[in-house]
Amino acid sequence: MSDAYDLVVIGGGPAGYVGAIRAAQLGLKTAIVEKRGALGGTCLNVGCIPSKALLQSSHHYEMATTEFAHHGIQATGIKLDLKAMLGRKEKVVEDLTKGIEFLMKKNKIDYVIGAGEITAPGEVTVKPAAKGGKKQVLKSENIMIATGSEVTPLPGVKIDESQIVSSTGALSLKKVPKTMAIIGAGVIGLELGSVWRRLGAEVTVIEFLDVALPGMDAEISKNMQRTLKKQGMKFKMKTKVTGAKTAKSGITLSMEARDGGKAETLKADVVLVAIGRRPVTDKLGLDKVGVTVDERGFVPVDEDYQTNVEGIYAVGDVIGGAMLAHKAEDEASVCAEIIAGQTGHIDYNTIPGIVYTHPEVASVGKTEEQLKEAGVEYNVGKFPFSANSRARSNADSDGFVKILADKTTDAILGCHIIGPAAGDLIQEIIVAMELSASAEDVARICHGHPGLPEAVKEAALGAGGRAIHI
Ligand code: FAD
Ligand code: NAD
Repeated sequence: MSDAYDLVVIGGGPAGYVGAIRAAQLGLKTAIVEKRGALGGTCLNVGCIPSKALLQSSHHYEMATTEFAHHGIQATGIKLDLKAMLGRKEKVVEDLTKGIEFLMKKNKIDYVIGAGEITAPGEVTVKPAAKGGKKQVLKSENIMIATGSEVTPLPGVKIDESQIVSSTGALSLKKVPKTMAIIGAGVIGLELGSVWRRLGAEVTVIEFLDVALPGMDAEISKNMQRTLKKQGMKFKMKTKVTGAKTAKSGITLSMEARDGGKAETLKADVVLVAIGRRPVTDKLGLDKVGVTVDERGFVPVDEDYQTNVEGIYAVGDVIGGAMLAHKAEDEASVCAEIIAGQTGHIDYNTIPGIVYTHPEVASVGKTEEQLKEAGVEYNVGKFPFSANSRARSNADSDGFVKILADKTTDAILGCHIIGPAAGDLIQEIIVAMELSASAEDVARICHGHPGLPEAVKEAALGAGGRAIHI
């Protein structure tokens, strides 16, 4: 088997391509199998990147139409060119996915296009993507499953990607719908809801629970929902969608109050189903080689990311936990290092969650609710952006930074930010937590003035009861 690989990776998303690069860096002969026809997975093709491109463009549009005058800029005749906006998004995606292909070549990784199936331990058979192509059999000492996730379907609301869409369809709507109903007030619902509301749609978000962004610190979730409401998004909480009727003129959703009550309907031009994502393991041959999956379809792994079958590993969305690109990348790197004989681990407590609405939301570590439940005593340092000079200069001062520090040791237990550049600001606290810094350590670091990071310093000062500017 001299032409056998050390590692074959199935799936070319953030988990798969990063795992392949790290393995190749460590001298492993590596191949990557991807069926999509482009590398980068959900994240680059139909997830993180196109959604952020549209969030940025739609934010510019909203600023130009509503905020410029406040800055003394008279802009008239502003018009939306949706085709150009979508075209820019597609170009960003195309350039970045090509960049990944270049990285495969640079690292001498064989990129095999087609659907991979594990046909025996140490064997991946690739079905060609194009008709008439030949099946390829790849032999490998190790296999890394990185097949990711797909939208969770909602019974009775069939996705057609034109009137009833998943996030994929919602990234490419040909025109701005007059009305849009979004099922699920999670990250996708709020991000893509923001995009289409900014572009002119009347957006109603329907959520089963009584909070948006469940799992986030409750104060942040409440603040986010209030802010989005102020921006014009409507919310129907504690509501269950029971079905959808499609007509040319639009979709009629039938709904019921979750806790009992009258049935009602809602009409919308477009419906976005965003109730979570499920793992992709079909036609992967897992049953043939005896790899187990749990009751929700995720692939269980041990601390080395090895499945119950020796030599078969799994990383990223397909193993469950936070479905985030950076979590997938880190797992794949560590997994490749372990396959290459090294050691590694991930501190799951310091993986940030970021929502790219405006204002942004960013969260790391424990929420107040989790600390209360665990009976941990903590101090809260909270600083509003309205008292931060840079945020005021920018006319972008909604939100706050909240740092939770252990009452006895002052160790940082969590940080939750809603505000401008929250996703970038949180990184300072992640570094601090990784290096076991206390809130006082952060408070004593000199922060450039005037800067948004000063709000983080002030929150850290606040945890010790000595914030200066409030
Ligand atoms: P994926 O990216 O899903 O990649 C898996 C790949 O495997 C796919 O390309 C698939 O085609 C391929 N594949 C599957 N089966 C086979 C097979 N049998 N053979 C060959 N190939 C196969 N995360 C963030 O961190 N930040 C964000 O801003 C963010 N925004 C998002 C926005 C949207 C709209 C969505 C839907 C997701 C977003 N995510 C974001 C989540 C992020 O995209 C995922 O967590 C990430 O892509 C997971 O990486 P992965 O490699 O595990 O899986
Ligand atoms: P999610 O889990 O974030 O939110 C789903 C929401 O739908 C929840 O609030 C849930 O209570 C609600 N829900 C579930 N079933 C429902 C039903 N039948 N009726 C009404 N509401 C229902 O899932 P998502 O928004 O679909 O996103 C999927 C994944 O993609 C997430 O895990 C997220 O981490 C990832 N993602 C991340 C980012 C980011 O990091 N910025 C952006 C987009 C997506």
